[in-house]
Amino acid sequence: MKHLSILGATGSIGTSALDIVRMHPDRFQVKTLTAANNLPLLCRQIAEFTPDMVAVLDAGKARELAGMLTGPCRPDIVFGDSGYVQAAAWDSTDIVLLAMVGSAGLMPALAAIDAKKDIALANKETLVMAGDIVMARAREKKVSILPVDSEHSAIFQSIMGNQVRDVKQIFLTASGGPFRNTPKEAFAEITREDALKHPNWSMGDKISIDSATLMNKGLELIEAVHLFDICHENIQVLIHPQSIVHSMVGYRDGSVMAQMGVPDMKQAIAFALSLPDRLDLDMGFPDFAQIQSLTFHAPDTLRFPSLELAREACRQKGSMPAVMNAANEVAVQAFLDRRMGFVDIFRIISATMACHTCIDNPDLSGIIEADQWARAKAESLI
Ligand code: NAD
Ligand code: MG
Repeated sequence: MKHLSILGATGSIGTSALDIVRMHPDRFQVKTLTAANNLPLLCRQIAEFTPDMVAVLDAGKARELAGMLTGPCRPDIVFGDSGYVQAAAWDSTDIVLLAMVGSAGLMPALAAIDAKKDIALANKETLVMAGDIVMARAREKKVSILPVDSEHSAIFQSIMGNQVRDVKQIFLTASGGPFRNTPKEAFAEITREDALKHPNWSMGDKISIDSATLMNKGLELIEAVHLFDICHENIQVLIHPQSIVHSMVGYRDGSVMAQMGVPDMKQAIAFALSLPDRLDLDMGFPDFAQIQSLTFHAPDTLRFPSLELAREACRQKGSMPAVMNAANEVAVQAFLDRRMGFVDIFRIISATMACHTCIDNPDLSGIIEADQWARAKAESLI
């Protein structure tokens, strides 16, 4: 029996994880749940999964939630940053699924590591912001960071049974998002609604916009650098519109290992929570005869400058990836709030990065300062 803390329980990853718990009650027990919002859903999750404690965004939401609970399960209710940290470090938890969105994941990730809890990591922003610090601390505390992002799960699975020193190249696949075939001239007309319609995956709003700008692949490039200790130059991004090959690993002898499956995050979440076992997931295989061909091509970095911005952040290292991440979060929110257009997202990130004097080897407070500086800068540019 594994005891779970699920941070971001009401989101796309969180609800998929709870679907897996529901399918395998003999394997998993939920100890803590957290959410920022959607209290009605959190209430139903509390009744069904009976956690010991829950954490929500603020004191107001904590009071509201307490008033909504009618069933016999009455978990401790805490709130705010300290509440999320408590949920991540909960004593009886074995593994923390980090599935909140954005920079809010960083402090709970560090708290889980300090409490020697393994992490199933969906929240890629944590490694983009502070990958050196997080990975070093995980090594020091002998904590496993298990990838949940489908591409990184694929890479992880394609390395299993091989020797890391034989890895020469990673092929990071991307669906290309909803604007894969949209000409650059039409980008100015792209609306919030167009950008939220992902062709293959159903996800939260922020990552859906990141997928539309291809910044999601930029964030994943940096995530892979940290998870697999590889230089960004040895990671090739490939547009693969069918989203069947979730990523590949090339070895020194020219052999390439790929992991495939239908595009459903449950596979990667379940593997991180149950490895080395594989769980029955009622999932079917890709219908290869019907799909007929799997295609790959290079991304168009003129239409989608995000990948180049992420590579620039990799080259400068230090505080630059945190600055890129923060500028992206602010720009995506401004686009979602209809305060600016789609192409402005690229402009704001690029201009914020250009204004930043990169700090080498920042400590945690240096990272947080850079994050806050970038948020203020991006807001002022907007
Ligand atoms: P989502 O928006 O659907 O859910 C986010 C969850 O985090 C919700 O429970 C929300 O209440 C909570 N939350 C939001 N803001 C918060 C804050 N400031 N503090 C604490 N909690 C907060 O997001 P998602 O699509 O499930 O993605 C979650 C993370 O997983 C992201 O980092 C994303 O990049 C990553 N990821 C998602 C997918 C996917 O298919 N959805 C795939 C790979 C990686
Ligand atoms: Mg992914």
